[in-house]
Amino acid sequence: MAGGAPPADIKLSIRGVAKTYGPITALAEASLEMPEGEFLTLLGPSGSGKTTLLMIVAGLTHPTAGEVWIGGRHATYEPPNKRDIGVVFQNYALFPHLTIEENIAFPLRMRMRGTPTAQVADEVKRVLDIVQLADVGGRLPKELSGGQQQRIALARCMVYRPSIILMDEPLGALDRKLRDHMQIEIKQLHKTLGITVLYVTHDQDEALAMSDRICLMNHGRIEQLGTPEELYFRPNSEFVADFLGESNLLPATVLGVDAVRAAGGLLMRATVPAGMTAGQAVKLLVRPESVRMLAPGETVQNMVEGTLIESVFGGGTYRHFVSVSDGPTFSVKQFTARGQAVPSIGSTLRLGWEPGDTVVLGA
Ligand code: ADP
Ligand code: MG
Repeated sequence: MAGGAPPADIKLSIRGVAKTYGPITALAEASLEMPEGEFLTLLGPSGSGKTTLLMIVAGLTHPTAGEVWIGGRHATYEPPNKRDIGVVFQNYALFPHLTIEENIAFPLRMRMRGTPTAQVADEVKRVLDIVQLADVGGRLPKELSGGQQQRIALARCMVYRPSIILMDEPLGALDRKLRDHMQIEIKQLHKTLGITVLYVTHDQDEALAMSDRICLMNHGRIEQLGTPEELYFRPNSEFVADFLGESNLLPATVLGVDAVRAAGGLLMRATVPAGMTAGQAVKLLVRPESVRMLAPGETVQNMVEGTLIESVFGGGTYRHFVSVSDGPTFSVKQFTARGQAVPSIGSTLRLGWEPGDTVVLGA
């Protein structure tokens, strides 16, 4: 068993786990560790291997290679029911003919046969209180909204008190408002109960809002693993930069450790990662909210000039699109205020940003 048991605070350890289906590589050598109590999100486009990895952790799919350790046990070949794991899927999977209370009591009875009825009732009540649905216990699932049903599915999963909860796109079927609300609710449940959660979504906003760390996947491999802030502000590839939020990507050439030359000949300041050499082609990443419209005569270290081609009012912000010669269309965010002056379409704008807000990516 390569490496042996992980440290005691590591709840889940995935080591070189891979899965192939004939010629298809669903998952290529993924490794990660989750400390107890962490909320970690597998994020990535459809087909990137998220569900495959989750199913391997659940024991519902066997890996082609690698090891899974759960709570210090080597669990690669353990059957699902021995893993002490709860799973919540997108479809709520409540028993339609059982009331909400019975739905929650069911796994409890299965697991702890002979539990006194009063104790089961107490536990059901406690769980309903936690998800703030104490008044619907007597109803059937079909008498609840989608969001309520999903809360019950969550509650039912929690009564197991599993050591890890796995969730695969649990909010995918809900409308936007409810999804936003449930994101906060799940996050608060996670905090209150201190459970370790491995969460799957293809929705970047959801991942940013909920996670302690995000594992961004692409084509069956881990592109980057880190806090939401690390991935957003310090992406290590163009894929990560593009997948999380909006990005402006300017072609450039490395000059030295702290300077690059952008297309069009402009000199810019940025920390060039170790290992890159002068003359190397790179992309400069700058987020729209880091870009400022400069006042006449104002100069900063990193600047471009261009023509405003479109402005989109989004309530709290305007997004201005600026066509830059020899470069991409720049997207700039401006916070709105009533009665404020907004530049007119066709006008020339000078844009600037800080060297610290410039990320140099391998092209
Ligand atoms: P995600 O959950 O990120 O959308 P999946 O883990 O479901 O991605 O799938 C990853 C890749 O593995 C996809 O290309 C998918 O088509 C392939 N795949 C998943 N399950 C199977 C299977 N049972 N047989 C063949 N290919 C599969
Ligand atoms: Mg999936």
